[in-house]
Amino acid sequence: MAQDPSRPLDRFGERTRLVHAGREPFEQHGFVNTPIYRGSTVLYPSTEEFLQRRNTKFTYGTAGTPTIASLETAWSGLAGAADTVLTPSGLAAITIALMTACAAGDHLLVPDSVYRPTRIFCDGVLKRFGVETTYYDPLIGTGIEALFRPNTTAVVTEAPGSQTFEMQDIPAIAAVAHQRGAAVLMDNTWATPLFFPPHAMGVDIAIEAGTKYLSGGSDLLLGLTSANEAWAKRLRQTFNAFAMCAGPEDVFLGLRGLRTMALRLKEHEKQALEMARWFEGRPEVARVLHPALESDPGHAIWKRDFKGSSGLFSIVLKEASPAAVAAMVDGLELFGIGASWGGFESLVLPFDPRAYRTATRWEAAGPALRFHIGLEDLEDLKADLEAGFARLRATA
Ligand SMILES: *Cc1c(COP(=O)(O)O)cnc(C)c1O
Repeated sequence: MAQDPSRPLDRFGERTRLVHAGREPFEQHGFVNTPIYRGSTVLYPSTEEFLQRRNTKFTYGTAGTPTIASLETAWSGLAGAADTVLTPSGLAAITIALMTACAAGDHLLVPDSVYRPTRIFCDGVLKRFGVETTYYDPLIGTGIEALFRPNTTAVVTEAPGSQTFEMQDIPAIAAVAHQRGAAVLMDNTWATPLFFPPHAMGVDIAIEAGTKYLSGGSDLLLGLTSANEAWAKRLRQTFNAFAMCAGPEDVFLGLRGLRTMALRLKEHEKQALEMARWFEGRPEVARVLHPALESDPGHAIWKRDFKGSSGLFSIVLKEASPAAVAAMVDGLELFGIGASWGGFESLVLPFDPRAYRTATRWEAAGPALRFHIGLEDLEDLKADLEAGFARLRATA
């Protein structure tokens, strides 16, 4: 039968796999989607089965449901992972990955451009549990070798960097880390496995904030942590110990988003690239930080390792006062001012990395803005921004 869930999907293309992965219609009376299973208690047919658990696929609500298994299986296939666990947020996916890779007395390497809440977890909780973190220049490449200590057990990566979009040479860093016996972690939220297959590129534990492109609707919080063969068992054990499971509705919405993720991502890519090029031609803009632009310092690495780019990038304005930036941004009609991204709507956010960087210096000509380009008509977005630039110029 065409819908046999055990059939391997490897021979199919990515889009075919996104459509079919993790679905078992004839386990659900023929319905196309795995429904929302809610539950704590799982019943066993006998005391013997309860004690031996020979034929039990599901044991308790925190350890998994058919809804959860559907998305875990589908994501592992997409990411090229041995296993995936689902967490209640992207940040929870990061903390589970770090708790999997670190123990007291360990030393951790983290890029200075990392998603800021990751830094807060390292400097707070991990420090309290005896793990020491050194921040490194995201552009360090093989030079990372010099930062290794005998107790360095993990290297965190993120490409491109949060807000500032530095491109990291993941294969080069992974080669050094593996030679030193350290695990490589990567926050792959920007590219998703569609544009960067993390495990094939040397990443041991990969993180995706499903809140972003898996959702596509700004309507759910979800994290996915995937691991290769070497780390899968320890990831699952750590996850089970915390019982940090995702909610059933959010997992269901994640599955729904998965089926259309390739289409949406392609459209965000196209829209964002056109807007990034448009910004490059504006006299008010000093730099556009987008690795798919030929002018970007990370372009060569992006071109070598990535299959696409998503809808998020930043710009650096020429010198402007805070009041001028506020006049520009606050008056925008179509760009929401808010964190998170990956949804259908366009967003803008001012940022200043000088406040928290420790290993590198952020030197920019002027204030910086991060944009997420949604699915609106580009002519409308451009007109909105043009009016914004006029307000910027008119304000001292
Ligand atoms: C948003 C984001 C996260 C965290 O996701 P949440 O679901 O909001 O916790 C992690 N990493 C990156 C790069 C993100 O942009």
